[in-house]
Amino acid sequence: MSDEILVINAGSSSLKFSIFVDADDTPEVSGNIDGIGQHQPARIVLKDAAGARLPTHGKGEVADHGQALLVAIDAMAAHYPDHSVKAVGHRIVHGGADLAEPTVIDAPVLAVLESLVPLVPLHQPHCLNGVRAAQAAFPDAMQVACFDTAFHRTMPEINQLCPIPRRFFDEGVRRYGFHGLSYDYIASALRRDHPALAAGRVVVAHLGNGASLCGMRNGRSVATTMGFSALDGLIMGTRSGHLDPGVLLHLLDRGMDAAELSQMLYHRSGLLGISEISNDMRVLLESDDPRAAQAVEVFAASLTAHIAAMAARLGGIDALIFTAGIGENAAPIRARVCEGLAWLGLDLDAAANDSGQERISTADSPLAALVIPTREDLPILHAVRAQLAARG
Ligand code: ADP
Repeated sequence: MSDEILVINAGSSSLKFSIFVDADDTPEVSGNIDGIGQHQPARIVLKDAAGARLPTHGKGEVADHGQALLVAIDAMAAHYPDHSVKAVGHRIVHGGADLAEPTVIDAPVLAVLESLVPLVPLHQPHCLNGVRAAQAAFPDAMQVACFDTAFHRTMPEINQLCPIPRRFFDEGVRRYGFHGLSYDYIASALRRDHPALAAGRVVVAHLGNGASLCGMRNGRSVATTMGFSALDGLIMGTRSGHLDPGVLLHLLDRGMDAAELSQMLYHRSGLLGISEISNDMRVLLESDDPRAAQAVEVFAASLTAHIAAMAARLGGIDALIFTAGIGENAAPIRARVCEGLAWLGLDLDAAANDSGQERISTADSPLAALVIPTREDLPILHAVRAQLAARG
């Protein structure tokens, strides 16, 4: 028997999970369940410490993230029957205006997290289903919440205000920002490997299915492109990003209701909406359909403009970091963006960009550009270890 930490990450229709043993930052077993609540058989992928696929049984439909966790526990137990979970770390989308640090989940904390559901009705319930299922499955384990919003609680109030009547700010309508676990990891990787850059003005571009920028000074969030919701800012796979609010008023006037608008803005917009082909950047880059080319063009132009705006907020920029699926893998997107920022002092090293180097700017480029793979599970793991150590 060995003591384990389970890290879980409940996305909108997926659950990622990893088991860590002792002081190792490489998971002993990890996996992903996709297609949760989609009224179709869910898909489960399970991998060992070396990243090799482990066999799993077909799972049928998985109704919610609580059931998904039980499926994950079963699948892992088939390969690792002798382990005991000592603590569970949860990625929680929203910690509100006050929860800025990883927090051990007890009944009052769970009540606070429940009270935030109206701010993120599409995402927070999945996270909380995961918490309740983990509490039931491991009643003696410590449960720790780590918030996607927490990293941005250092933003000055002017970067949290929405330009609508002030009273809404006090009611919780403010810019919270998301992807905080990814930014936390990148900030710590920069401190470890590039301390001079970490101390400066850095824009991090987290470009996955969801995408945002974080402007950091000395490793702390100053501003971010996602705001009250995870819809604002950059164009994403299926989400609109920044959109003229007049378009929403027009669509409401034409008879669309809030649920239809939400469905459109979260699931049928962005790269998918413009291309009418796919939300997947790989597919779009390989397609010769002009709509795919246009979607890529709009994505890159929006990204470039937002990076420049973020540099202005920081009063200059010393480094640009690309991360997550598109940031780590889509060299043509990085090239377009870097070329579009040549006027800011970014001198792209095209060979380094194409061959997967960490530094993709030339050695004497005034503005450094780097590719750093993100690990959203690590800040959670480290927070859980710290809580375990603090409680003896
Ligand atoms: P999530 O937000 O779901 O965690 P990821 O960080 O995995 O998303 O990023 C998914 C995005 O990364 C998709 O648009 C996918 O097409 C893109 N991507 C992954 N690999 C490549 C690649 N080799 N070239 C271009 N895009 C890629």
